[in-house]
Amino acid sequence: MTPKLIVSVALPVPLRRLFDYGVAQEHEQAIRKGMRVWVSFGRRKLVGIVWEVKTHSDYDLNKIKLIESVIDDAPIFEPDIQKLMFWVSQYYQHSLGESLAAAMPAKLRKGEPNLAPKVKFLRLTEQGHAVEESDVKRAPKQWLLIKELKEQSAKRSALSEHFSSAIIKAVEAKGWVEEFECDDSPVSKFSDWEPETKPKANVEQSLAITAITSSIGEFACFLLEGITGSGKTEVYLNAIQSVLAKQEQVLILVPEIGLTPQMVSRFEKRFGQDIGLLHSGINDTIRLNVWQRAKKGELSLVIGTRSAIFTPFKQLGMIIVDEEHDNSYKQQDGLRYHARDIAVMRARNNQIPMVLGSATPSLQTLQNALQGKYRHLQLRERAGVARKAKYNLHDIRGQQLTFGLSTGMITRIKQHLDAGNQVMIFINRRGYAPALVCQQCGWVAECPRCTRSFTLHRVQRKLHCHHCDNIKPVPQQCSDCGHQELSPLGQGTEQLQEGLTQLFPGYQNVRIDSDSARGKDKLNAMFEQIHKNEFQLLVGTQILAKGHHFPRVTLVVLLDVDGALFSADFRATEHLAQLITQVAGRAGRADREGEMWLQTYHPDHPMLQDLINNGYGHFSRLALEERKHAELPPFHFQVLLRAQSTNASVASNFLMAARRLLPQQEGLSVIGPLPALMEKRQGQFRMQLILQSRSRQLLQQRVATLVTQIESMPEASKVRWSVDVDPQDFS
Ligand code: ADP
Ligand code: ZN
Ligand code: ZN
Repeated sequence: MTPKLIVSVALPVPLRRLFDYGVAQEHEQAIRKGMRVWVSFGRRKLVGIVWEVKTHSDYDLNKIKLIESVIDDAPIFEPDIQKLMFWVSQYYQHSLGESLAAAMPAKLRKGEPNLAPKVKFLRLTEQGHAVEESDVKRAPKQWLLIKELKEQSAKRSALSEHFSSAIIKAVEAKGWVEEFECDDSPVSKFSDWEPETKPKANVEQSLAITAITSSIGEFACFLLEGITGSGKTEVYLNAIQSVLAKQEQVLILVPEIGLTPQMVSRFEKRFGQDIGLLHSGINDTIRLNVWQRAKKGELSLVIGTRSAIFTPFKQLGMIIVDEEHDNSYKQQDGLRYHARDIAVMRARNNQIPMVLGSATPSLQTLQNALQGKYRHLQLRERAGVARKAKYNLHDIRGQQLTFGLSTGMITRIKQHLDAGNQVMIFINRRGYAPALVCQQCGWVAECPRCTRSFTLHRVQRKLHCHHCDNIKPVPQQCSDCGHQELSPLGQGTEQLQEGLTQLFPGYQNVRIDSDSARGKDKLNAMFEQIHKNEFQLLVGTQILAKGHHFPRVTLVVLLDVDGALFSADFRATEHLAQLITQVAGRAGRADREGEMWLQTYHPDHPMLQDLINNGYGHFSRLALEERKHAELPPFHFQVLLRAQSTNASVASNFLMAARRLLPQQEGLSVIGPLPALMEKRQGQFRMQLILQSRSRQLLQQRVATLVTQIESMPEASKVRWSVDVDPQDFS
């Protein structure tokens, strides 16, 4: 029998199209757009999303496959998210099915039911209610349990914390207590919450709060540009309060490691309610639970990293993107989206205000603000008593360095330590040394899959390739000449830490990088210890630049940042300026004055000079001028077509063929094929084709056509290729 009803299904496959399936009669009534279905696809079974319900198909209805089953009894994607995800798939030139899959919690992606997780509870039976203390004289523990359950039923797991399983089993056996399953409605820990007194907003904060709150109910995008410690979070909190007062919800996006317990507790204290948290440390069950509760309107606040932008809400009233310049908002594989940019589109669709906050706005956002597309709010002073750190360059040309530090710098560090303060030293390289070299012949231990030097990790006694995670034991001898003296070249965090122990024996140091801070709790534990002044010297990488405040730090030293001044990536100086400003912003948060010193071989470099003397605000506006002259983003738009293969010429030929498909056209420039900045990685040769235009529309149209053509090219099946719209990274 031919089906009467047909559905177009979005499937998690790379092909940028929908697939038609027939609907068996039994499902005709129930099926709707936005629901999940199981279908067979080739030899596989896949979870797809119903995208269209229709009565015709271009395929032969006698041969069309039927959907196997309908998973949901209500759509998991409501119309607003459907609209958003359709835009996402078009904008990022990515298959709709894969885009939708990226927007789902893992459990739903795997086809598990969209049900609230059930939890085991215990309650009294009728018999149990009748029990009196005198009935269980010889078992006082049992009586305590009965008494507790007389007030209300309780989670089995919670009761097991106070009562042994023998006691629980005993009362169950007597038929006094029974188990039942129920939705996991978390018991609120805010029953005795009292509103805290909040600081009185200063003039600039008040202006910002008024501007944002008066836009509630309409679309407006604000750039809140405020130096670190100027009270941006305080502005968010006030704006959020106004949204909550209207019974609407707020989504707050934070960078990957920006979400600290301190931040969460600040929100909890202010609002006295549960906050949905979504980050890499949250397990699939809780993730689904947050997703469901936000969708039902049970959670007013959700704070999360990148992918939280896809969370469904019953009544979303505002989106906040904290540290909007942070690169972790850009997904670097699969659906290569930028959460900040999707946030702007979502706010526009929903007609709600949104706030992009940063001390160091990305050039793209800044340009939108300067152009009047976004409204620009500025906080120029530190809130409360704190003052801004003084910036200085330290010329190390011709100087003798000990563990990367000049003699003058060592003295300065000592002064700060002796005055009872903490010192933070930033170096953007983890491990002991970035290379291991033969003293005899110059041979360098290299990762064969990436042709880059291995990083030496002394603590773990291994060579580690930071590009592909290849790990090897440390060799005993040179593999070229057999010489037995191999020495580390250059310095990483481990070596610097070793050096600080030698140089400042009276002070405790701690290393904070992704090796030492593996696991979220470990990082937070280190932060706690630093707050208690158990460490006086802090050595670390980028992690130090993210969101955490160290009130006791009065001196910040940056080592080895010169490389970024001469990078082939046109965004390198922007990122360096953000990094320097963010790291410096960690210092002198309280009443102690702070200073930042940057050791450099290029003290005359105009970018460094501008940043040190005039600050990020000035630097960024000048950098925008440069981008404009160079016809680079944000003034021109880019799309990157990447290809990789174990054979360099296969990747290159594929991109050549793609290039030939593009007509010579006014307003569109094509660069490449060129090798990626990292030409070889994990044994794959990596090539790129850059498409660039002043017109976003023209570029999008060209790429859309090109991608369709590529899909039917025979060469396409021989390489791994992908499209990156608004690429942030050319490595
Ligand atoms: P940012 O988010 O810009 O780094 P915060 O909002 O965290 O800044 O504020 C920095 C510190 O200043 C916090 O301890 C905060 O409680 C305090 N603060 C913020 N606004 C005020 C204010 N108007 N008066 C006094 N203290 C304030
Ligand atoms: Zn050798
Ligand atoms: Zn490697």
